[in-house]
Amino acid sequence: MIRISQHGPVTCFKMGREMGGRVMYWCAAYQVGDVLVDSGCAHTAEELAQALVGRGVRAVLNTHHHEDHIGGNALLAERLGVEMYAPAASLERLAAPEKKLYPYQMLMWGPAPPSRPQPLGDEVRAGQHRLEVIPAPGHSDDLVVYYEPHQGWAFVSDLWVAPQQKTSRDHENSRQILAAQKALAARQPKVMFTGMGDVVDPAAPALAASIAFLQEMAAKVADLAARGMEPPRMVEELFGRESSLMAMTQGQLSYENFVRSFLKGA
Ligand SMILES: [Zn+2]
Repeated sequence: MIRISQHGPVTCFKMGREMGGRVMYWCAAYQVGDVLVDSGCAHTAEELAQALVGRGVRAVLNTHHHEDHIGGNALLAERLGVEMYAPAASLERLAAPEKKLYPYQMLMWGPAPPSRPQPLGDEVRAGQHRLEVIPAPGHSDDLVVYYEPHQGWAFVSDLWVAPQQKTSRDHENSRQILAAQKALAARQPKVMFTGMGDVVDPAAPALAASIAFLQEMAAKVADLAARGMEPPRMVEELFGRESSLMAMTQGQLSYENFVRSFLKGA
């Protein structure tokens, strides 16, 4: 399923695999000028390629290597002849994407076909706009935000998911996410375009809510760690019980990973 909406000059393509009449998990691509930020998942690549015919997309810009952001790359290059750009740290992983996905990832997104983007510079032209490329590691080590400074548009991908995002994968680092969100907030973005297709306008209160939540969690986890408490017990203390997402994602997304993500170096 694909839903197309217009937000000023930015077009949002919100996509997801339909199962039993509903989409469990959305992913998104955004057209600004002649570029497309991200390409969705493999399951929706065909629909996206059809939707982009005649829209003048010159290039795809990836935000990071996760399969729900790069799954359309190969097909869009083949069908529309688009150029592709990605963070330097993503390139090897895009050329040989992870094939061993968890069952829920296979179901919702599917493995991305290999693609060979060129490395990004510090900024990218997007028609009449100029997008700054801002490294924002934490959700993944290679994540970048594309930022249009004159309009205040921030294509944040998975840097911001919700005001209180409490589940993490084991490779995430919430202290880095907090630092990257603060750095973005300092630029005073007006609108956030997120990796799940949410257009957050105004951006400031949503960003501030997440920063406050992560700061509060960082302080609580540090306090519990200082008292010698282990992460499973911290989950009980902070949330009462583990997230239902843990079972659904075979342990990949959990409150425990979220708690542990504060115990890593920033
Ligand atoms: Zn991601």
